[in-house]
Amino acid sequence: MNISFRPHHFLCALSFRGEGYSPQFIANFSGIMRYLNSSSGENALINVVGVTDSICAPCPSKRNDHCISQKKITNLDKAHAEILNIQSGDKISWKDAKQRIADRVTLEKFHQACAPCEWKKFGWCEEVIKIHINAN
Ligand code: SF4
Repeated sequence: MNISFRPHHFLCALSFRGEGYSPQFIANFSGIMRYLNSSSGENALINVVGVTDSICAPCPSKRNDHCISQKKITNLDKAHAEILNIQSGDKISWKDAKQRIADRVTLEKFHQACAPCEWKKFGWCEEVIKIHINAN
């Protein structure tokens, strides 16, 4: 399975709990996470991209290689790329990405970087990230 993530989707992937923008979006995201969390998927390399990625593929807001809320997405990507020290063109396994999240993300950084996201208010991501950074 060939997987690409834009920078802010590493944290979204860690926090994914089966919610999303449409049934197709959720089914696709669930399939990606089933693969990445499997023994063969954990070490598969994820391509870091600066445009729409494997998670965006069936999104109703996708327009070619960009999003209808592109300004917000660009801000999220910029902040997350800086925190995780990744850029377009990098390749990283899910196992290493999870370790990088544990090493580099703090709750303060999460609140700053994810501020523009409409999903943040539900608290799911904060809950998962808190557990992840305390356990690693
Ligand atoms: S708050 Fe939004 S951008 Fe941040 S991890 Fe959650 S879903 Fe992703």
